[in-house]
Amino acid sequence: MSAKRTAAEADADASMSVGGGGDKGPASSSGKNAGDKKADMGAADADPNVLTITPLGAGQEVGRSCHILKFKGFTIMLDCGIHPGLKGKASLPFVSQIELNKIDLVLITHFHLDHCGALPWLLERSTFSGRVFMTPATKAIYRWILEDYVRVSNISNFAEMYSLEDVENSLAKIETISYHQETNMDGVRFTPYCAGHVLGACMFDIEIAGVRLVYTGDFSREEDRHLMAAEVPPNSPDILITESTFGVRQHESRQTREHRFTKTIHDVVDRGGRCLIPVFALGRAQELLLILDDYWQNHDELHRVPIYYASALARRCMAVYKTYVNVMKESIQKTISINNPFNFRHVSYIRNLHQFDGEYGGGPCVMLASPGMLQSGLSREIFERWASNKANCVLLAGYVVNGTLAKDLLKAPKKVTSEAGHKIDRECDIAYISFSAHVDYAQNRDFIRALDPTHIVLVHGEKHEMGRFKMQITTDLEADQKTASVFDPRNAETVLLHYRGEKMAKVLGSLAQSGPVQGRRVSGILVAKEFNYMVVAPTELGEYTELRTTTIRQRQAVSFPYTLELLHNILAQVHGAASVAYVETEMNRIGHRPQRTRALEVMGSVTAALDAATKMLVVEWSSSPESDMWADAVMAAVLQIESRPQTIKMASTQLSEQREADFKALLAQSLSQLLGGQFGPGAVSRDGDALRVRSNNTTGTIHLSTLEAESEDEELRRHLTNAIHRLENIVRPHAHAQDGCCPSTACGADSGDDDGDDDDDEDEAGVQDGVKGGDAGAETRGGGDAAAIA
Ligand SMILES: [Zn+2]
Ligand SMILES: [Zn+2]
Repeated sequence: MSAKRTAAEADADASMSVGGGGDKGPASSSGKNAGDKKADMGAADADPNVLTITPLGAGQEVGRSCHILKFKGFTIMLDCGIHPGLKGKASLPFVSQIELNKIDLVLITHFHLDHCGALPWLLERSTFSGRVFMTPATKAIYRWILEDYVRVSNISNFAEMYSLEDVENSLAKIETISYHQETNMDGVRFTPYCAGHVLGACMFDIEIAGVRLVYTGDFSREEDRHLMAAEVPPNSPDILITESTFGVRQHESRQTREHRFTKTIHDVVDRGGRCLIPVFALGRAQELLLILDDYWQNHDELHRVPIYYASALARRCMAVYKTYVNVMKESIQKTISINNPFNFRHVSYIRNLHQFDGEYGGGPCVMLASPGMLQSGLSREIFERWASNKANCVLLAGYVVNGTLAKDLLKAPKKVTSEAGHKIDRECDIAYISFSAHVDYAQNRDFIRALDPTHIVLVHGEKHEMGRFKMQITTDLEADQKTASVFDPRNAETVLLHYRGEKMAKVLGSLAQSGPVQGRRVSGILVAKEFNYMVVAPTELGEYTELRTTTIRQRQAVSFPYTLELLHNILAQVHGAASVAYVETEMNRIGHRPQRTRALEVMGSVTAALDAATKMLVVEWSSSPESDMWADAVMAAVLQIESRPQTIKMASTQLSEQREADFKALLAQSLSQLLGGQFGPGAVSRDGDALRVRSNNTTGTIHLSTLEAESEDEELRRHLTNAIHRLENIVRPHAHAQDGCCPSTACGADSGDDDGDDDDDEDEAGVQDGVKGGDAGAETRGGGDAAAIA
């Protein structure tokens, strides 16, 4: 079958709107195709052909990454982070914008707090009940990071967020997914690809109903000492949600950066100073330790200067790092058995400042301490101790988030406020060398070029960085003759992408054997599976789907102290003579052997058999909308007989009138022949209901309506009366109204069928058709009549 464009592959119209309740004002800008349509989030929710993307965090900011993707009734949350610059519940994404219990799936890209920090809250303190996926390395580290976060956070702020216990409990609800492992959830497929950045970080390739989307999370396209560069997912997406942290900035080369880093530190310790490097406990810290350990190894004069890695998690983190070498770059994987680079030669771990005070002999040192943005905890405490000494240095080595002390320090303030609220003189040096593993502009642009998406949604960037990025990438794509639309939604602002609502159904199996013919209808069962549609023959359902056909056999028994003929008459009158026929069926009674018995068949699908012994009418059928309806019709007829016997009598009479008319016609004919033979041709004449007979000088009249004869000549009257009685007995159908007689044809015709050969249904049906069609002679009529009700 040739490749066909699905509805989802069709180009989408795009627009943005504000869901309301964001931290900023109304929407302004949008992509090239956008701005012309505004729709509220609720309306978009109702339209299955509109795909919406709403950042609940990391919209024109860095922090609390959380994006809601909705399409075809499916809702995905991409990351669930906190804002490191905010405290308590204020650090959560704008979760009030959505119904958390409607989220089907949460995909976490990596263990940084701004991507997973709100997950324990979501899992343990909200109405969310969907599934959560992350890579195994992310899950292993998530646990330590989050526990550490709870410990160092101010308890009063944190009580409303979550507890250590919540973190612990959340673990059981998180499923893991490895790089390149495709998972299918209700037809939504998603696959993680390596994103570089930190250990276990991934980007997600997601496909819903033919629409493909890539969410990068944080990613780095540069291999470093231990991580590989981010992969380019193999499929070009319709939509790319990409970080824009560094806007249009360009990174210095790795060599330059490492050189500046080691030189800065070397200079500080040379002058007797102490160098504080605030780090996130895990992630870039390990990269920096690799660089320092290597540098120390090559500089004997530095061996007397201790390097401390101060984190409650230090040892645990390193154990995790040693466990997950399989997701690091190849050279590390190869050498790990001979020389594990994470077995540092010059680094000491300390858990707390107590330990530091006990071991530290004074003099120069290098201290890596968490958290990375000096919000609180170890790094903050050390900073407050060391800030006033000119010889010291704070080296900021990663991206710093607005609202944190680390960000404030970039402006080199003379005074800073301690956690306790005192003013501290800031005399130490402040250096900033970014090791944060995010793409710079050129790397991001090349990544976008390689993926060639139709729509680009920018996230994870400060407003101005993002704005500059948007302008530059739009210009560059135009130069490439590309027409991708670029969006930079703010928090709670929704990007709407309209996809055409066309549905295509594949015809499979025998229905597809002959090619399509214009104007010829294909009938089968339409099966929707994972946003795809197919039409199959009912008998092949099991072959092409996981569906199975089941027949529900229904049986009802009602008390029915009447005759089958009566029921036959009622049904024939209400639904037409063709709707009901006499058949033979098997009567099953508990405690008795099955018995062949006479029954009615209504519309070929419902049988009604009368159990003569119990006077129960047993109605049986295979459930289907149509046969259920006919079963109802039978039951309705039974009810009618029960409730209105008078009507029934009339109905039955009406039906028997026809038979009576046929009988009279035959009787009249027979009488004419008989009497004509006796009195001579021309002696008998018909006058309406009367048959007149001339005999010599007298006449007699037979009233066909009453079957009475009259004549002035008593002898003739008696003669005629006898003739009537004789012929009536011959011509009138037998009174076999009760049981055991052939249902449809002349008596005795059924006797050969008693063995229950079901296969001669057709023959029977043929005979019945003949009877029902009314073209058989009167002698073939079955015997029911109004007498049955009496
Ligand atoms: Zn990150
Ligand atoms: Zn981030």
